[in-house]
Amino acid sequence: MIDIIGSFSGEYKFLSNFYPVDIKYEGEVYPSVEHAYQAAKFPENSPIRIHIRNQVTANKAKTIGRRSRGKASDWDSIKFNIMHQLLREKFKDPHLHDLLVSTGSKRLVEGNYWRDIYWGVCNGIGENNLGRLLRIVREEIQGDWRCFNGHIKTDPGLCHCGMFPLKIGQVYGDIVG
Ligand SMILES: [Zn+2]
Repeated sequence: MIDIIGSFSGEYKFLSNFYPVDIKYEGEVYPSVEHAYQAAKFPENSPIRIHIRNQVTANKAKTIGRRSRGKASDWDSIKFNIMHQLLREKFKDPHLHDLLVSTGSKRLVEGNYWRDIYWGVCNGIGENNLGRLLRIVREEIQGDWRCFNGHIKTDPGLCHCGMFPLKIGQVYGDIVG
């Protein structure tokens, strides 16, 4: 029985931070969580942020983010919360939202071969903080709201499209009928 997703590739590529999806962060839109995360290391009006945002691939964004100087001095103490915020943003996408929920209660482990033992697990060793955060977000979004047009909301207020959302999982007919 498979109750663990051990790498964010293949059919589980959508769990990877490299997966292309628009991410809003501090007034700008980034083409992946990785882009936004790397940019977040630098001050809000820094040209490095623009440079990172303009990279075609998440891999390039990562390289630039890691090699550039001027990173926030408290980065290591805030990066976990920033990642949480970015993942919350990512799974507002209705399609990705459903894909994450569809992983049920499976353990999510970011198995990697590039020795990232903070966010993932390499050779059986690692804190797997990305996997942990994804499980937290998965739990959080099960309490989300969705309007008839499919927009995901975190509260029951009127959607920007003019519809009132319902708790996810609730059948529209329940209140319409
Ligand atoms: Zn809506």
